[in-house]
Parts: sequence; structure tokens; C-alpha cells
Amino acid sequence: MGQFRYSSWVMVKPTPSRFNPDLLARDSTQYSVNLPLGQFSRLRETLLEDVGEMHATFRFSRRKDSVLVSGRLSTCYKLQCQRCLEPMEYLVDEPFEFVFAKTEQAARDMPDGLDPVVLDDNGQIHVVDLFEDELILHTPTVPKHEQLEQCDVSEHVLSTAELDQHAGQDANDNEQESNETADSGNKRKNPFDVLKNLDLH
Ligand SMILES: [Zn+2]
Repeated sequence: MGQFRYSSWVMVKPTPSRFNPDLLARDSTQYSVNLPLGQFSRLRETLLEDVGEMHATFRFSRRKDSVLVSGRLSTCYKLQCQRCLEPMEYLVDEPFEFVFAKTEQAARDMPDGLDPVVLDDNGQIHVVDLFEDELILHTPTVPKHEQLEQCDVSEHVLSTAELDQHAGQDANDNEQESNETADSGNKRKNPFDVLKNLDLH
């Protein structure tokens, strides 16, 4: 099986880090690239940890005077859930299609529905610049665990452990409860009462 994996009958080439799309569009070669997320300087600011990689496979093509690149990208972000503040993983697996523009003006003049990427003065682009905006686009602005049950996982584990403990210590619990009742009856300045009042405001 190994020899098929490395044979060239499926033409997948590694992507040069900087390239001229016009040259790569001359045949229908499929390209692939793995980029560490740490290389994306703007994206990494939105991540909890810049570990992991982005993977993409794509082809170049021509439409009239334009060069296009289309394919699929996938990655996994480490983000902070804004509901429980715990780390969470966010999977991205999306198709993309970009049209290369020679200038900012050419990019602005493109019809709606096209996703322009601006080349440098030499007609080249760095592979990080090709994907960074798209990756940022797929980063949720307010990341949250998909299911509410996934939040506060540690608390759920704790409460289950507590329940088990309670089941074996019913007698102790009853004793504690009666003590607490007596306390709140006798002492009006119980610190817990202060906390209760604070909660109301
Ligand atoms: Zn959460």
C-alpha cells in the first residue's frame, strides 16, 4: 500500500511558501499545504493557544482574465468558551474560492460574490496571506460550547462526586443541617446572610 501513497499517479504537490498564481494555473495540479496556526500573526491573537495546523488542498484555474484558486481547508482552533470560560475546540472544515487581484483597486472593482485576494507588486502572494483572512472569517466572535452540557464539565463531575458522598453520609448531613438552622436563627449577622443580600442588588 505504501508505494501507492508515494507514487505520483495522484498529482498532489506541496505549495511553495510564496508563489505566482499565474504560473501555477498552467496545469490542473492539485496542491496541498500544512501551516502551523502560529504563523498567522493576526489569527493567533484570537486563539487561546496557537497550537495545531491548518490543512488545505486546492487547484488553480482561469476564468477570463482572472486566476482562481478553489479547494477546501480544515483546522481546529483552541478557543475560550465565553459561557464557562473553559478551553474548547472548534473545528473548521470549509470550501473556499478566491480570485487573485493585481491591485487593491482591482479587488474593489470585482463583482459581488467573488472573494478577491490581492497580490504583491511582483504578482506573488505568500501562502499565509492567502489563507489568513479566510481563517479569521471562520473564527466565531463569541465562541461557546455547542451544547450547554459541555460547559462547566468540572462542576458536573464534582456534583456527581458530591452526590455519591452524600448518599453515604446521610446521618452527617442531617446533623450539619440542624446546626445551620440553629446558627441562622441565633446570629443575625451571619456572613452568609450578607452574601444573600448582596446577591439581591
Ligand atoms: Zn462552555
